[in-house]
Amino acid sequence: MNLCDIGTIKDIMAAYGLSFRKEFGQNFLIDGETVARIADSCLCEGTKTVLEIGAGFGALTSELARRFEKVIALEIDRGLIPLLGFTLSGFSNIEIIQADVTKTDLRELLSTDLARGGVSVCANLPYYITTPILLQLLETRLPFDCVCLMVQDEVADRLCAAPGDPEYGSVTAYMNYFGTCTRLFGVPKNRFYPAPKVDSAVIRIDLYKEKPAVPADEQLFFRVIRAAFGQRRKTLPNALSSQFTDISKTELAGAVESCGFSPDIRGERLSCADFVRLSDEIGRRMKNV
Ligand code: SAM
Repeated sequence: MNLCDIGTIKDIMAAYGLSFRKEFGQNFLIDGETVARIADSCLCEGTKTVLEIGAGFGALTSELARRFEKVIALEIDRGLIPLLGFTLSGFSNIEIIQADVTKTDLRELLSTDLARGGVSVCANLPYYITTPILLQLLETRLPFDCVCLMVQDEVADRLCAAPGDPEYGSVTAYMNYFGTCTRLFGVPKNRFYPAPKVDSAVIRIDLYKEKPAVPADEQLFFRVIRAAFGQRRKTLPNALSSQFTDISKTELAGAVESCGFSPDIRGERLSCADFVRLSDEIGRRMKNV
């Protein structure tokens, strides 16, 4: 069965009484070459288990199952579960689980697989919920070998941006704390059915085994990033002072300058390591108030 063939997809969906659910971001891949390339992107050394988020019709799931010992495939849509049982019936190494990933404790779900080592994540992410899922994956702090995701083109640009690029934002700086992001290849919208409005790209996030820069106070560091990008047009001291009421603007400006930044710099120029230094300096000054 060709799981990328539009006719096959339509016929089997109809046979199961299903229609494409926009609210779940159901745009299925219909290009075998793209599916194989995404699965290949997950071939990190040591990976035995792949967690797939959003199995859909099962095209990517099957390619992952051909490459890895085990695939755990989550799918929120209850209607698709019996269908996946049919489209993936030829594989004995796939575990299909009906679940909303955002309500799933991934540490618990993957505990056995993490214990034996070698877990990666692969997903053609539903667009409506890309950022929350990405943040969830980072915040679990699980030691994934790699995280390969299909995201909207503009999200890929944002995640891979460098300080000073127009696309660079709080999510970029935050993500850079956990790892690095590489844009692997673009995927035009006509490779999906139904076709979405915009093109996509596959990215790979390589999580740091040891973070290159660690703040003294992580919560303060996250707060500084949020404040710096909260009002992008403002200079960094002004953007910070509108969010920090527990330290004076003079102290904040002093912290910015003592880190070697010009007082009229904007937050979008700072790298993750710069934010670590700045939050440590702000933390020191807050303690002395
Ligand atoms: N993997 C398939 C492919 O590449 O053709 C389907 C990708 S489609 C863009 C996204 C899939 O994620 C849909 O099947 C959708 O039902 C599922 N999904 C959406 N939200 C989800 C959630 N919160 N948890 C788990 N799966 C979800």
